[in-house]
Amino acid sequence: MSTSLVIQTSFLGDAVLTTPLLSQLANRGAVDVVPTPAAAALLVNHPAVRTVIPYDKHDAERGLIGLWRLARRLRVTRYDVAILAQGSWRSAALALLAGIPSRIGFNTSAGRLLYTKRVKYRADLHHAARLLMLARPNGRAPTEDELRPSLVPGQAERVAVDALLGERTSRGDALVALAPGSIWGTKRWPFYPELARALADVAQIVIVGSETDAPLGAAVSDAAPGAVDATGRLSLLASAELIGRCRVLVTNDSAPMHLASAMGTPTVAIFGPTVPDFGFGPLAPRSVVLGHDALPCRPCDRHGPHRCPLGHHRCMRDLPPNLVAERVRALLLSRDVVA
Ligand code: SF4
Repeated sequence: MSTSLVIQTSFLGDAVLTTPLLSQLANRGAVDVVPTPAAAALLVNHPAVRTVIPYDKHDAERGLIGLWRLARRLRVTRYDVAILAQGSWRSAALALLAGIPSRIGFNTSAGRLLYTKRVKYRADLHHAARLLMLARPNGRAPTEDELRPSLVPGQAERVAVDALLGERTSRGDALVALAPGSIWGTKRWPFYPELARALADVAQIVIVGSETDAPLGAAVSDAAPGAVDATGRLSLLASAELIGRCRVLVTNDSAPMHLASAMGTPTVAIFGPTVPDFGFGPLAPRSVVLGHDALPCRPCDRHGPHRCPLGHHRCMRDLPPNLVAERVRALLLSRDVVA
């Protein structure tokens, strides 16, 4: 048995996609994880994780002093191995200063000189698979089941979602979640209000997102009276619980897509300036990806720029609401057939 520390201080979606790796490592012994404070709230109930140790690298623990303090705390545990799921020099230095003898990460990472083992970064794999391969660099590629992320909302999250939905679930309408937000402007599909209007006769619409997505949520709920606007009203784990209760999620290439992958909610994922080939497509069964495949400027950026460099934003604007609504209706119907 060995004791592992996984350092993953990237975006929320990356933290979700690290859960298959955590489950794999848990077969060998105790697993602790160092995520951002936001991601820590997502992983707190995860059965593969013994201890979640948040690292507030941009605020309370910023700079070299913060790094050193956290390393000193980690040193006490005497980990056997550190998995650098996030590849910065800072993460690598943290593992080194914590006295962890075996440090494993990708051969393309900025901190790779401080690793004791460098694993080939497989651009051809989904990111969840790439991360999982850090635990078995020479082993077989993961199966679909091994690859599926997982999150475990608890009683508090269930209560919060019950309170939000109130009587609406008892009417038996299918819940369809819309996630109109993204940190990157060009990743935001602009037609969520029209989509909500188009689906209002077949589904109870719920809008998910953070506090910063509230203006987008308000625009959607204005267009479809009766929609439940949950933007800024639920914790991340409660948002996962809500998405898990929905029959379909429609989302951009952003964190809610990964929450749906973890909760098994079929997803219509709308990709604009990015493409699923980067390794971040939806993993929930029956998911659908929509993108403008004929557009020569696409993909134009690994993350998606804030403004379209060509000014027209056709990668999103050319995807009409009726196309997306059709895919949602098909998913709702296919579930009915399966049932
Ligand atoms: S350059 Fe093309 S892919 Fe990039 S944002 Fe503009 S339309 Fe989209």
